[in-house]
Amino acid sequence: MKSMIKRRNFIKGSVLGAISATTPIVSRASGLFEVNKRSSRKPIAVATWDNRRATRAAIDVILKGGSALDAVEAGARVPEADPEDMSVGYGGLPDRDGIVTLDACIMDEFGKAGSVTFLQHIKHPISVARKVLEETPHVMISGEGALEFAVSQGFEKENLLTDEARKAWEKWVEDNDYRPINHDTIGILAIDEKGKMCGACSTSGLAFKMHGRVGDSPVIGAGMYVDNEVGGACATGDGELMLETLGSFLIVELMRQGIKPDEACKMAVDRIMKKYPELKKGGAQVGYAALNIKGEFGGFSIDKGYSIAVSDKDQDRLIVPDHYLG
Ligand code: ASP
Repeated sequence: MKSMIKRRNFIKGSVLGAISATTPIVSRASGLFEVNKRSSRKPIAVATWDNRRATRAAIDVILKGGSALDAVEAGARVPEADPEDMSVGYGGLPDRDGIVTLDACIMDEFGKAGSVTFLQHIKHPISVARKVLEETPHVMISGEGALEFAVSQGFEKENLLTDEARKAWEKWVEDNDYRPINHDTIGILAIDEKGKMCGACSTSGLAFKMHGRVGDSPVIGAGMYVDNEVGGACATGDGELMLETLGSFLIVELMRQGIKPDEACKMAVDRIMKKYPELKKGGAQVGYAALNIKGEFGGFSIDKGYSIAVSDKDQDRLIVPDHYLG
């Protein structure tokens, strides 16, 4: 495990600002199981962090007749397009060389996947990942090849480094603190009216990572996994931890044994904590979100500060799952 520090709170502020102050925040202590029970109606969308605008967009797509695949793509495109979200797509914080590189993956109800890694200049990597799924015989395309493929599919080449992200990077260089920082990757799962589940994950990766570094987010089974016999899971946080434990796949396999989503997420975090006992001192974050095919959802994280967004026909909620430390 490489040395890492906690996610930056300032990134969250801008997203929270866009959400209605009346939206209820429900903690597990105040009855997550009750919430689960109430949320088992379909359609439902669940995402990492406070991505309620994304889960709402996903549900809106389904209510207009779209599929779960359309929904998770539309959901991931919300933070991808938002320059104030400095974790995903346009406006994402760059690597240590000041270059924005993006990773994304998507999975359909048949378990087929598309993924792009180390993609530059394209605002919507999730849509390129969908093209990989639908238009190529491959699962994962990387770097220059991914960019060439995107351009051939009609995606526009753009500058993704906003002034704000550049300033944050310049400050980071000045501070001479060469640790990468995890932040607010979107993982999103949705069940449509037909009861089909799909998933997506999109990120600019750890801020100030080494050039060329790819994390968990575009790796099927690490950043996200869906199996329509069981359900799906997605991840955020220090990607190396998920890459070495394949947490999303593990959560789905635990749910296959009948374990509830929140307990399965906890067991995947327990696995990390057992493998890396030094994390008990703090300083790392992993957050999982899971949704089973019945519409029950849950989450769990290593440290405090994590939340999951849940939308259905009627409402958008922010749930604060339990965490391992403290
Ligand atoms: N998991 C992402 C990565 O390691 C980062 C994040 O979630 O903040 O690339």
